[in-house]
Amino acid sequence: MESTARGLPKLTDSPCRGTSCNRCAEICPTNAINVFGSGDTTKVALDLGSCIGCSLCIDNCPTETIRENRSTELAVRRREHLLLINDHAVEKEFSKEEESPKTNPFGMSLSARVVSTGCSACDLEIGAAGNPIFDMERFGVRVVASPRHADALLVTGPVGKGMQMPLKRCYEAMTEPKSVVAVGTCAISGGVHKGSYTEANGVDSVLPVDVYIPGCPPHPWSIIDGVLKAMGKKR
Ligand code: SF4
Ligand code: SF4
Repeated sequence: MESTARGLPKLTDSPCRGTSCNRCAEICPTNAINVFGSGDTTKVALDLGSCIGCSLCIDNCPTETIRENRSTELAVRRREHLLLINDHAVEKEFSKEEESPKTNPFGMSLSARVVSTGCSACDLEIGAAGNPIFDMERFGVRVVASPRHADALLVTGPVGKGMQMPLKRCYEAMTEPKSVVAVGTCAISGGVHKGSYTEANGVDSVLPVDVYIPGCPPHPWSIIDGVLKAMGKKR
């Protein structure tokens, strides 16, 4: 990631001031943060699956409980693994074993069909993942034009209710084995559109998602990381 990029937020061990501060939760445009408790029992919960990476919470955290995270290895197999909490007693420490697929159904290569339901910035980053700099084809990943030729469905954007049926048809047109990857915060939760009257609040409301890649949009390395996890090439 570029030296000036801040990435998505992460939680640190630094104690939070609790609800007497609450600045991060108040300023977050997607309600991704919840601060509860006080004193030693204060906890900060952060949903990376709702985060659009605006950095406002980082800029407004006086205790450095929330810091930038420049890692691009952010993709997970289970939605709940995007729910962070700064309390080690409560934090769900998921093992790599738990994150691993039981088998690798796709062998050495994977053909991906991209369906965009959003603003197209995520699609541009998928395109960038295929350019000569990131070159995802060297990992055996290529984008195809038809779901009939695809092993994986990469969904971007805030899935509207009107897109649920077309997405389902696209998925049904794919042969087994097949995989679904939610690319970007909109596809995971609806992002800034979450809860609106047209919104399905994420692709997993209609299809079984195998890998979630957070970010708005995710960095091309994050997209490659997620697709390799979908292939079973990476834990
Ligand atoms: S970086 Fe994410 S969690 Fe923080 S304020 Fe912005 S949207 Fe909310
Ligand atoms: S996650 Fe961000 S970049 Fe991707 S479709 Fe939504 S608003 Fe656009």
